[in-house]
Amino acid sequence: MNIQRKPDWLRKKVNPGDQGEMRQLLGELRLNTVCQQALCPNISECFSCGQATFLILGKNCTRLCSFCNVEKTVPLPVDSDEPLRVAEAVARLKLSHVVVTSPTRDDLPDGGAGIFAATVAAIRSASPSTRIELLIPDFQGSVSGLEAVAASLPDIIAHNVETVPRLYHIRSGADYRRSLDVLRNCSEIATDIRTKSGIMLGLGETEDEVLQVLRDLRDVGCTYLSIGQYLSPSRLHYPVQEYVPPELFESLRTQALEIGFSHVESGPYVRSSYHAGRYA
Ligand code: SF4
Repeated sequence: MNIQRKPDWLRKKVNPGDQGEMRQLLGELRLNTVCQQALCPNISECFSCGQATFLILGKNCTRLCSFCNVEKTVPLPVDSDEPLRVAEAVARLKLSHVVVTSPTRDDLPDGGAGIFAATVAAIRSASPSTRIELLIPDFQGSVSGLEAVAASLPDIIAHNVETVPRLYHIRSGADYRRSLDVLRNCSEIATDIRTKSGIMLGLGETEDEVLQVLRDLRDVGCTYLSIGQYLSPSRLHYPVQEYVPPELFESLRTQALEIGFSHVESGPYVRSSYHAGRYA
C-alpha cells in the first residue's frame, strides 16, 4: 500500500525564509545537519529557533536503509577539524542542548567513535553548560566504540531502533538485537549517562509489536523515548503504510510512561531530536 495523500494533521509548512541565519552559519562553518539531509518537516520551526542537529563525519552513509534520505555513496575522509567547528556553532548559537549524530560509517575502523568523542570534548571546552546528546550508529556492535564515546561523557546517548523487528528488512545492515545491545551496553558502561531511543510509526507495524519494542527498550535500561510518524522522502523510498492518528500517539505516550520511560515525546511530527531539550 502506498498512501500519497497526507491527512490534515500532517500539513506543516516549510518556509525557507525562516531558515536564513542558520543556513548562513552552517555554510560559513562547513557543517551538515540531519535536518537538511533527512528533509525533516520541522526544519523551519527548529532553524528559526536556532536549533539544529549536527551531522558529523560527512553526509554519505555506508548502509542502504530504504526509509532514509541520507546519501548512500562513498563516504569522504574524516575531517579532524569538524569537532571544533561544531563547537563553534554551538557556542555561537548559545545552545543549552545540542544533538550530534552521524551517518553510519562502517568503513572506519572505529565507526567514527573517536570523532564523536572529540566533538563532545570540543563542545564541553567551548560551552561547559551545554547538555550534549549523541545519536550514534551501532558501531557494528563494537563495545570499544561505545566505551570511547561513553568516556567522553555526553549527557545522553541515543540509538534509535527505528521500527519493530519484523520490519528490519528496511534497515539494511542493522539488527534489532544488536541495537538493543548498544543501549544495554551504554547503560552498563556509563551509569550516569541516560539512554534514549526512537521508533517510527506508519511502516506497517501493529500496536502490539510497538508495545513489545517499548518493553524491550525498558529491559535494556532505556529511559527516554521518541515516537513519530514515518514520512517517505520520495517515491523511491519505502512507502508509508499508514498515517497514524494523533490519538494513537497520545495513547502510546501514556502506555510508554506506564512501562517506565521517564520522558516520552510522541506525536506525528516528533523526531528523535525534536524538542530534545525537554527530556528530563
Ligand atoms: S526535529 Fe531534529 S532533525 Fe528535525 S529540524 Fe528539528 S533539530 Fe533538525
